[in-house]
Amino acid sequence: MISEKMKPLVNNNSMIRVMFEEGTRLKALYGPENVFDFSLGNPSVPAPDSVRRAIIDLVNEEEPTVLHGYMSNAGFEDVRQTIAESLNRRFGTAFAAKNLIMTVGAASGLNIVLKAILNPGDEVIVFAPYFLEYGSYVRNYDGVLVQVSPDTETFQPNLKEFAEKITAKTKAVIVNTPHNPTGVVYSEETIRRLAAVLEEKQKEFGTVIYLISDEPYRELAYDGAVVPYLTKYYDNTIVGYSYSKSLSLPGERIGYVVIPDEADGSEELITAATIANRVNGSVNAPSLMQKVIARCVDEKTDIEAYDKNRKALYDGLTGIGFECVKPEGAFYLFVKSPVPDEMEFCTAAKKYNILMVPGRSFACPGYVRLAYCVSYETIVNSIPQFEKLYRELKG
Ligand code: PLP
Repeated sequence: MISEKMKPLVNNNSMIRVMFEEGTRLKALYGPENVFDFSLGNPSVPAPDSVRRAIIDLVNEEEPTVLHGYMSNAGFEDVRQTIAESLNRRFGTAFAAKNLIMTVGAASGLNIVLKAILNPGDEVIVFAPYFLEYGSYVRNYDGVLVQVSPDTETFQPNLKEFAEKITAKTKAVIVNTPHNPTGVVYSEETIRRLAAVLEEKQKEFGTVIYLISDEPYRELAYDGAVVPYLTKYYDNTIVGYSYSKSLSLPGERIGYVVIPDEADGSEELITAATIANRVNGSVNAPSLMQKVIARCVDEKTDIEAYDKNRKALYDGLTGIGFECVKPEGAFYLFVKSPVPDEMEFCTAAKKYNILMVPGRSFACPGYVRLAYCVSYETIVNSIPQFEKLYRELKG
């Protein structure tokens, strides 16, 4: 008999499976090239060649018992030092190896941070639309997820409602920029205002509120968009980073958490998060991948390919009449459903072999997410199908 806590997750999982099976069914029926599957956020750009070379060189050069062995639960110290120096060069920060904990991707990073800070009943604020897994991560530690409703004009965080939702129980706020599912990059002005609200509320309640910056898409920014480094705006910031998208390594499960010295109770927090890495069963981040990252620390994925897709899909869809905020980052477009119920839109789209994710999967009904990490041909060939779909729905 499974636990009560797992039951809703098991039920919800069947929805994801249905979607996956639908994609497989359509591809078998019509051929993969005739199915426009915009449902998955799996990078379409391969990892840079330097990653492949680093793997081969490491396997050939390094002592196997070290390369594949256990290390500190926080990860190899030299790897953390290399990443800290890279961050300091790029963002003018002053991190040392001790401020970083290597993690099993961003998912694990968020989990160890929440495990380290949450008592049962503590509240964690998120801005809709948001990556729905946040709810599961918060519930893992018996926290309570509090949602701020979306500002559908800009998809920047709704700071008025945010201020109203902060209580004496608020322990953390999770932000994600560049953003899944909208592709929006939070502006510096937004970050300054958000930090000001947090400072004011910390004073008002005499509490500590951590700002958790979930950054798997940091490197995917277009049109010269600047993604502010949040530790510079608010002391109690914790950063969760991942190489899943920035180096196209989602299956390798590698990322890190930064807990700066300025964060309240920093030393104890670093120790707690490191122990959380151990006791949640991860123990440490994959050793080979840690060393690969150290060798490829300043490598970038080919964002030109994503940018080309972004422009083609945005221009194609808005040219037809679809409405959507122009994304500046990540690899998603969040499109307003042309009919009030986006489930109806998704169902109608399947007739044209188009697969997309309903906005309710991100706590924002009335919209759909298109992941444009697909081939350029898929985008170009999908546009006439979208046009037919739009005509069908709009008459
Ligand atoms: N946070 C957001 C916003 C994401 O979109 C994802 C993955 O898609 C994650 C976290 C988890 O990333 P990782 O593969 O690094 O665990």
